[in-house]
Amino acid sequence: MKIIDTHAHYDDAQFDEDRDLLIQTMLDNDIMAIINVGCSIERSEESLRLAQRYDNIFAAVGVHPEEIYGLADNYIDILRGLAQNKKAVAIGEIGLDYHYENFDRDRQIKVFKEQLALAKELGLPAIIHSRDATEDTLTVLKDAAPLKAVMHCFSGSAETAKEILELGLYISFTGVLTFKNAKKAVAACEVIPMDRLMLETDCPYMAPTPHRGERCISSMTAYTAAKLAEIKGISVEEAISACNENAVRFFGLNIT
Ligand SMILES: [Zn+2]
Repeated sequence: MKIIDTHAHYDDAQFDEDRDLLIQTMLDNDIMAIINVGCSIERSEESLRLAQRYDNIFAAVGVHPEEIYGLADNYIDILRGLAQNKKAVAIGEIGLDYHYENFDRDRQIKVFKEQLALAKELGLPAIIHSRDATEDTLTVLKDAAPLKAVMHCFSGSAETAKEILELGLYISFTGVLTFKNAKKAVAACEVIPMDRLMLETDCPYMAPTPHRGERCISSMTAYTAAKLAEIKGISVEEAISACNENAVRFFGLNIT
């Protein structure tokens, strides 16, 4: 069964050598659709260009918390313009990242809130990135509720998952779910209802076991799907079809 990869970065330089051949081969074989997610204004434009070239590639436009420095004052207007594109299906990825030293917490929160407001204004779902910033992320999301959003690359606890679910959000898993040390993510996955789950790669990063550390591609979502099915005690087909349905409904994908 073909899979929808709801979060990929094919604009990344790691795909410069074989981007088009790789994407076409996957769409011809095991991948139904891909959402290419922007991290900056430039990479959001790149995502749209990619989406323009393939029927079943869609784009998210947004500024990642690590890309907020040097942002133009009118960046929201620029994003609003990009989001008018028919292939733009979400605002993302946006959020908070306190992983590296010297991050500007207040500025990250401000830009996160502004982009969430844009998503609401446009009636688009938001793709949320949160690293080492669970508490602040939840506070911002609670303030912005009700909200149509997905917590991407989730690796948090079951307790955090429950809080996110209470806000009405979806949760998506990358290859992290297959990692040996991902006990927390597995426990979280157990408590998430099937109608709130989605599959993603975050490629070229987060390749699942047994490809951990390699360049990740959308086809590897199959390993994450198999793990999800195992956790839920259902068939791989059931897991994939439920996640695909959720993705189509959540992002309003018009797959041909
Ligand atoms: Zn990403």
